[in-house]
Amino acid sequence: QAIGTVTSSQANMMRVVVNSDSEIENSGVELLCVVKAVLKKIKMRVFVGDRVLVGAIDWVGRRGWIENVFERKTEILDPPVANVDHLLVLFSLEQPKIEPFMLSMFLLEAESTGIPLTLALNKAELVDEVTMVEWKSRLGDWGYDPIICSVDTKQGLDALQLILRDKTSVVAGPSGVGKSSLINALRVSTSVIGPNGDDNWFEHIVGSKWLDEQRVGEVSTRSGRGKHTTRHVSLLPLHEGGYLADTPGFSQPSLTKVTKKSFAQYFPEIRKKLEENGPCAFSDCLHHGEQGCVVGGDWERYPFYLQLLDEIKIREESQ
Ligand code: GDP
Ligand code: ZN
Repeated sequence: QAIGTVTSSQANMMRVVVNSDSEIENSGVELLCVVKAVLKKIKMRVFVGDRVLVGAIDWVGRRGWIENVFERKTEILDPPVANVDHLLVLFSLEQPKIEPFMLSMFLLEAESTGIPLTLALNKAELVDEVTMVEWKSRLGDWGYDPIICSVDTKQGLDALQLILRDKTSVVAGPSGVGKSSLINALRVSTSVIGPNGDDNWFEHIVGSKWLDEQRVGEVSTRSGRGKHTTRHVSLLPLHEGGYLADTPGFSQPSLTKVTKKSFAQYFPEIRKKLEENGPCAFSDCLHHGEQGCVVGGDWERYPFYLQLLDEIKIREESQ
């Protein structure tokens, strides 16, 4: 038996990297595993990112059976990954420029998962020093300390590697900011030599369509609109340890799981004011001008807070 991490899955086939085993030399070995029927019977779904117990291992043929799944620490659904313990929110300083409201939506969606986040700003080489310093100070007022980077010049990539080390991370951000470029720059070559000296043997075993499907996703034939796109995701092992999901997260942040009661805590500005001056007079204060509110309105994102709070209230009332 060995304990491992599921790094990708296709139908019932799981690719598992061994993390610990009585035989130390097996650490890092990749196994192609099938989920035992008993787990399916109790409706236990195995996610990419899950830590699993593998039994009946054939170390030569590199096959095994997944016999149990350890309790998940976190679970995100877009893309579906277990045990993500770090989110990297990526925007670009130019092409496209930072749009403060959209950046807030991504930050709030990330904050609402409860998973620690890092903000990084890409394409640094396209802007001057003044622009960079202005954004740093502005986002500092929001409560964030962004990493400035450039996939093109490699600026800041070492700092990002250090942050990603020994974590399981998902990158989120709008289209065009460089998420795929960054993932490609950080990924370790995943070509695995199989038991017969065969490159990419996992892909051959599970069918040549695997890799294509991972990228494209399957469009629902019933709706035909691609609404129910299956998001295939794989975890890429990083040089320094840790994993990075190959599929970006939160393509459309919508705050649908956020309640009006919990919403305020996702703003670092509000957390800070409550820490310094709090608490407000009323324990259920929503910080929109109530008597004895210590949050006030003297901060840049206050209008965003009010607007989104209204939208959340309307949604809650209509439910
Ligand atoms: P995604 O939609 O977030 O995955 O963005 P992509 O990785 O597809 O990148 C969008 C475009 O930005 C591509 O043309 C990349 O070559 C370009 N790009 C990525 N990183 C940088 C960078 O650091 N500087 C510049 N100038 N362009 C970049
Ligand atoms: Zn208040």
